[in-house]
Amino acid sequence: MKTHKEKIICPNCKTKQWAIVEHTLPWYWNYTHKCKNCDYVIMESEWEQVDDVQDAKKEAGFLVIILAIFIVLIILLSFINN
Ligand SMILES: [Zn+2]
Repeated sequence: MKTHKEKIICPNCKTKQWAIVEHTLPWYWNYTHKCKNCDYVIMESEWEQVDDVQDAKKEAGFLVIILAIFIVLIILLSFINN
């Protein structure tokens, strides 16, 4: 049976985890997964896919903000020194 992995979030405890989707029939994929953290059975209607790309973008955005604050501080310090 063909399968693929999707990263999903549990609607019950919000834990992100990998779920295996079984290609039960060519036109029907089995979107059910038991949460590894709370044993909640996630059904197709509650299936919420998350991806690492979004997390990476959030982290990159955070770093840009830190860098911007750092640059502003350097500029402010140079004004104070003058
Ligand atoms: Zn859960």
